[in-house]
Amino acid sequence: MTDAWTRRGFLYDLGLGTAALSLAGDGVPGQLPGQPSRGVAQAESTRPSTVMAIAAHPGDAFFAMGACIALATHSGGRGVFLSLSLGERGSASIPPDQYATLQRQAAERAATFLRAQAAFLGYPDGQIPVSDQAKLAVCDVIREHKPDVIVTHWQGSWHKDHRACHQVANDAAFYAALPTLTRNRPAHAVRKTFFADNWEDAEGFVPDTFLDITPVIDRWLEACALFPMWRGETGFRYRDYYQSLAVCRGCVAGFKSAVALMSPPGQLIRRASVW
Ligand SMILES: [Zn+2]
Repeated sequence: MTDAWTRRGFLYDLGLGTAALSLAGDGVPGQLPGQPSRGVAQAESTRPSTVMAIAAHPGDAFFAMGACIALATHSGGRGVFLSLSLGERGSASIPPDQYATLQRQAAERAATFLRAQAAFLGYPDGQIPVSDQAKLAVCDVIREHKPDVIVTHWQGSWHKDHRACHQVANDAAFYAALPTLTRNRPAHAVRKTFFADNWEDAEGFVPDTFLDITPVIDRWLEACALFPMWRGETGFRYRDYYQSLAVCRGCVAGFKSAVALMSPPGQLIRRASVW
């Protein structure tokens, strides 16, 4: 397997066509020393793919992972936003039961706007369990939607729900692929997992993949704006942060706008037949 094959393989997974990403440290003639390549990847196939975000809360799903799904649906693929909790305890001024309704409505409207689906598991905000029950529930959603790619939380988070989601999502993908683990639906193997660039999950986050989201950035930002918290009502300036981050990541990757992703270590293995 060569690097070129790996780039094509990634694009094939996401069904994104050409020049959709830049791999950090991937040498390309003409680039400045020590800087990432400029998105010269070529795709052999643009088969539409299914991308699933598995997030602790709807805000994480749409703000930190949503551009990946916007790009997938823009390219003719499918997208699913799975939120383990509604994040109903996230407002200091709105009671949790009312805020849960607002969060669910915003997620459903934003998913529809991006031509994707929203799914919820309804675990209590702040108390997402790391249990086999939760892992099997996520396993069932994976088997139902059959994603090619999963985007979820990185483990280096100060938020306990995010750390829980990281563990649950990864173990759920493992369970989903096990043919001998009998559930209502047959086994499904997710081809690739990526960890999202989330302001709350920054500890040890080292991006290795930069996705060109230029074609969908306006649509993705419009979807995010359906959430009241996007404008900063809950105390963090989500819109300013994620909109600026797309510009910053784009500068590094050589795209107008980009999202940065981190791969599990085993996914980064390169094989070369010649030196
Ligand atoms: Zn969160």
